[in-house]
Amino acid sequence: MRRIYFDHSATTPVRPEVAEAMCGYLKDNYGNPTSLHYFGRQVRKGVEEAREKVAGAIGASPNEIVFTSGGTESDNMAIHGVAYSNKNKGNHIITSAVEHHAVLNTVKALGKEGFTVTILPVDKYGMVSVEDVSAAMTDKTILITIMHANNEVGTIMPIREIGKLAHSRGVIFHTDAVQSFGKIPVEVNDLGVDLLTISGHKIYGPKGIGALYIRKGTRWRQTLLHGGAQERLRRAGTENVPGIIALGEAARLAVANLANDNEYLRGLRDRLIREVTARIGHVKLTGHPALRLPNHASFTFEFIEGESMLLSLDMKGVAASSGSACTSGSLEPSHVLLAMGIPHEVAHGSIRLTLGVDNKPEDVGYFMEIMPPIVERLRAMSPLDQETEFTTNSDCTICKVSGTCSRV
Ligand SMILES: *Cc1c(COP(=O)(O)O)cnc(C)c1O
Repeated sequence: MRRIYFDHSATTPVRPEVAEAMCGYLKDNYGNPTSLHYFGRQVRKGVEEAREKVAGAIGASPNEIVFTSGGTESDNMAIHGVAYSNKNKGNHIITSAVEHHAVLNTVKALGKEGFTVTILPVDKYGMVSVEDVSAAMTDKTILITIMHANNEVGTIMPIREIGKLAHSRGVIFHTDAVQSFGKIPVEVNDLGVDLLTISGHKIYGPKGIGALYIRKGTRWRQTLLHGGAQERLRRAGTENVPGIIALGEAARLAVANLANDNEYLRGLRDRLIREVTARIGHVKLTGHPALRLPNHASFTFEFIEGESMLLSLDMKGVAASSGSACTSGSLEPSHVLLAMGIPHEVAHGSIRLTLGVDNKPEDVGYFMEIMPPIVERLRAMSPLDQETEFTTNSDCTICKVSGTCSRV
């Protein structure tokens, strides 16, 4: 069957050049970079070259880059490290309601440990307002953590302005750039950030590798892992060498290809948005219409459940994702869509199509062949147009469509 992958915000395939680069470090260059002998030295050299590539890709210097196990660890490490080492200055942390859970749950956990947390609202496009950030700041504020681009609706936040504001008040600023890096320019001095998170598997690298940028002079300390002196005492544990090599190459390629990829993806995305909204009724684009990631199309379809669309698309070979959460056992829709003021019943009909460099124009054509009949069929059988409220899982549309909801 024809298979089309429209879920690049969840993860991406590894670029062949990246797989090739890491392969040598799985087979031949297996030394421990801490070892002083030849095997160790060879690998150390590869790791430091990768660090230079990652640093170069975001306009940082190599000693400001710490390799981690991915975006989640980088976010935890950034937030914990700043919170604990600035306790004497204050205990207030500012974030937004639409952050990835790696940020939101970390900040909430600190809220239970004596830190005060402000979770800023967003507008109908999922955008944080700079004025709200400014108004939330107090003389106890030690950290602002706001994502560069949102993973569910693609909205790009006013990071540069927030960075200026943070610095004018002497507050440390972290951004999660997992979704933006490789798709739009990400340059630490231009953005004015002190800490920045990236992840390998969102930029055509492997899973389980990421990096945290920590600006020189930032008051931050390692808090999560006790162990060896790797990464200049900032991250204990033997380095994930093949992952690091791969991240270096993926970051280099992401920046080298950025202009081309951006234009190509934007073309596909715009066509997808145009055709979906023109050819299917009761559909709305979610997220900002212009200030959005070049590969990101997300919608709500009224009177349908997102997961039933996903299952129908999957049966036709198209991989997409949804912000509706029947899979997690709760019928609570995405926290991002709810924060944008989208009503529960509409948020349930959300779908996200995120494009990648491996997608072809024909993929959009195929999608537009199969989607309108899927929507028509689901709407015909939907209980939602009679305004039925979901209360239990047995009322779930997935159960009705597939006869089971085994994942609940
Ligand atoms: C995927 C993602 C993460 C988590 O990164 P992992 O490497 O999967 O841990 C964090 N933030 C955002 C915005 C993401 O999209």
